Amino acid sequence: MKSEGLAPAPLFDRQRWQIRLQQSWLLRNLLLLLLWLLVFEIGWLVEYTHHASVWYPVAGLTFASLLLLGFSVLPALLTGCVLITFYTARHYNIQLPEWQILEAGLLFGLAHILPYAVGAIALRTLAKRGARDISRIIVAFLVIAAVSSFCATWLVLPTLVITDMMTEAEIASTWLPFWIGDMAGVMVLAPFFVGLLSRVLPSALFRLTDMAGLQQQQFHPRYLLKLLLNAVLLTACMLLAKVTDSPNSAFAIFFLVIPHMWIACSESALLNVSSVALSSFLIAFWVHLFGLMDYVMVYQFAINVIAANTLFGLAIPTLLADNLQLRKVAFTDSLTQVASRDRLEQRAALEISRSRQEQRPLSLLVFDIDYFKKINDEFGHHVGDQALQQLARLAQLSLRPTDLLGRFGGDEFVVLLPQTTQQAALTIAERIISELRQVYICDVHPLTASFGVAQLQSDEDYERLFRRADRALYQAKLAGRNQACVAAE
Ligand code: GH3
Ligand code: MG
Repeated sequence: MKSEGLAPAPLFDRQRWQIRLQQSWLLRNLLLLLLWLLVFEIGWLVEYTHHASVWYPVAGLTFASLLLLGFSVLPALLTGCVLITFYTARHYNIQLPEWQILEAGLLFGLAHILPYAVGAIALRTLAKRGARDISRIIVAFLVIAAVSSFCATWLVLPTLVITDMMTEAEIASTWLPFWIGDMAGVMVLAPFFVGLLSRVLPSALFRLTDMAGLQQQQFHPRYLLKLLLNAVLLTACMLLAKVTDSPNSAFAIFFLVIPHMWIACSESALLNVSSVALSSFLIAFWVHLFGLMDYVMVYQFAINVIAANTLFGLAIPTLLADNLQLRKVAFTDSLTQVASRDRLEQRAALEISRSRQEQRPLSLLVFDIDYFKKINDEFGHHVGDQALQQLARLAQLSLRPTDLLGRFGGDEFVVLLPQTTQQAALTIAERIISELRQVYICDVHPLTASFGVAQLQSDEDYERLFRRADRALYQAKLAGRNQACVAAE
């Protein structure tokens, strides 16, 4: 029998896994523990002094998991810390009884987790309060990354000394690379892990894409091209340091800020944090492979600077969009959607200087609804508003795209007419008057307007031109309304 309408079950059902992970505390912790140990192993690759590596990626994962999943991940993190303490003891050949290593592991766990937990709670609270303001969240994240990794350093190192995992004398040479390594782990990789974990657990407490403006653009193959260019530049810079064996050329790695800013301005948030994570892995890998340990501090700082810069870069498209929105609000009359008075004045100044330069005519129409107060009184303000909108629409239809219709205020409108003589402007005014003949307010009351027309004179500015057109409008009103009058020179 044919089973119609039943699609074959997919090999990997993402949604089912997501639900399972959300429901099962044990599964979540197990998976996180595995990931945490794997990430720790990668950090180990680039250890360059006792207890310090180029960057400490687990710090990023600890921070990201606490940020997203809260205290429910404590078992995974604590178990991870204990396991790596056993591993470290063996690596450095530290002879201690097992119970003491266990104790050291638990203490190390608390010292490592506590500062990142506090930092994650602070960031989550801030994101909940002001989720729209990305730049504030980014600044807060950078400060929290620096402070929490500093606190973690100064909690972990004394703990290691107390538990005989390292000597007190080692602290002086270890704390700075330890701190910068942890900070790089958080700054560079926490955003990446947040993006990664959010995909697995979409109902998490905090999401990168929750922040307004970080639109989830679709993946485009050109992103791979950018990544490739980035990887080539990165490799070339590090090869240069290897070949010349000079600290000066190690600083060339800071050029990487440029392609990362390019990616920041043109790709989605997730692709950005992924590219920073990838660059940091590649830097760590080349440091290890090319034997660039002498310049490792330069690379540590570079990773941090690139990450911080890219995160700020993410705010640029949002700020641009906000600016555009603000411009639109400032330059558009909200009721009629024609240009605002500010926009009119700005454009008028530009068109006047252009008309002078090109010695072409420019004219201005000023018009005002006749007996508008009566319309408001008789039919109500709402109908008055509709009359304003209708008049604006109708006038717009009689204009060219290069003309600019704006609302001066109340029931008075202005039209800026570049390359138009007084006579042509008068014709346009009469065209609008004739179009208005078809319009009746609530099917009973005719809608009419009076027009003043003026052509720019050689020594005139916008204000004087407007005043002349406005006087002509007054003449039209005096002469009986529903007509256009040309201004006297
Ligand atoms: P005139 O023919 O001399 O122009 O007479 P008028 O009654 O039209 O007088 P005037 O142009 O001075 O009236 C402007 C009125 O427009 C006054 C104000 O109540 C009304 N008004 C101003 N802005 C708005 C608005 O946004 N909506 C509405 N419905 N009315 C407005
Ligand atoms: Mg009026």
